[in-house]
Amino acid sequence: MTTQPIFECVTLIGLGLIGSSLSHAMRRGRLAGRIEGYARSAETRRVALDLKLVDAMHDDPAAAAKDADLIILCTPVGAVGETARRIAPALKAGAIVSDVGSVKQSIIDDVLPHLPQGVHFVPAHPIAGTEQSGPRSGFAELFDNRWCILTPLGDGVSPGYGEAVAKLAEFWRGCGSNVEEMDPRHHDLVLAITSHVPHLIAYNIVGTAADLETVTRSEVIKYSAGGFRDFTRIAASDPTMWRDVFLNNKEAVLEMLGRFTEDLSALQRIIRWGDGDALFDLFTRTRAIRRSIIEAGQETPEPDFGRRHGDAEEDN
Ligand code: NAP
Repeated sequence: MTTQPIFECVTLIGLGLIGSSLSHAMRRGRLAGRIEGYARSAETRRVALDLKLVDAMHDDPAAAAKDADLIILCTPVGAVGETARRIAPALKAGAIVSDVGSVKQSIIDDVLPHLPQGVHFVPAHPIAGTEQSGPRSGFAELFDNRWCILTPLGDGVSPGYGEAVAKLAEFWRGCGSNVEEMDPRHHDLVLAITSHVPHLIAYNIVGTAADLETVTRSEVIKYSAGGFRDFTRIAASDPTMWRDVFLNNKEAVLEMLGRFTEDLSALQRIIRWGDGDALFDLFTRTRAIRRSIIEAGQETPEPDFGRRHGDAEEDN
């Protein structure tokens, strides 16, 4: 039985972890009649063609976007606005432009002014990822059973916008995701505490340990399984991507960091006073949160540290 693809032509701008995973997921679900791509480096263009991630590859984003019904911007957050500026003159009327950026309000501010009338901009963020990057790191299952948050525009949207949002939701469901809509600023606040601040903590603790290395270099590595190792996985995430996240979600991250710092100071006091009951209560509550994440199907009980099953060996 053949089913109609959701889009005749989809263009991926940027073919790193998310772009290449989208290609695999589209191929698996037969969601696109044709996939075209743009990458800035010749190496990524070559790999994308070798791996058949795309049917055609371009070194000019406008050329890649001109025939597309859906264009997905899969570059770091800080590059999305400039890319939108470059593709804007080539876009077909009725085309849908979307993105996968980890921050939403700043992307809307950066992209919207460039897009012509009759083109629908539907921002999106798949809550799925690994610490890997580049065109070889993608896989079809990345988005399976993960949430994809759409942050549609509010007032003054063009005719046909509702259909465009519905079509993009259908596309993400075809990639394996569950789809939810959210206000962009609320998205940024939620992600600040669930993703951005945890990454900052990991970067910070690994940085602190690195500064201690002259004294205890071998111990930090040797005894890393005590907890430090899990932080190093997160702290190995792409530096460009995460630099852009913090530069573009300043307010929400600072708000959440303020609360985090207060709670950390309280913990400091609890330890100083030897208040075992307070520690026990907190750790009991946090353990329950872990259990609810597993029950919600967002993690497995086994310690796979975010890796695909079967890959654990090579990452160890
Ligand atoms: P990635 O693997 O590092 O790939 C980034 C891609 O963007 C590469 O193709 C790279 O080109 C291209 N690129 C980088 N800077 C560029 C620039 N200035 N102009 C044009 N192209 C540029 O990154 P990723 O993990 O796929 O992340 C892409 C987006 O997804 C980001 O906005 C991120 O916030 C979002 N996201 C990431 C995750 C995650 O866990 N990684 C999860 C959800 C959403 P070259 O290959 O030619 O260098």
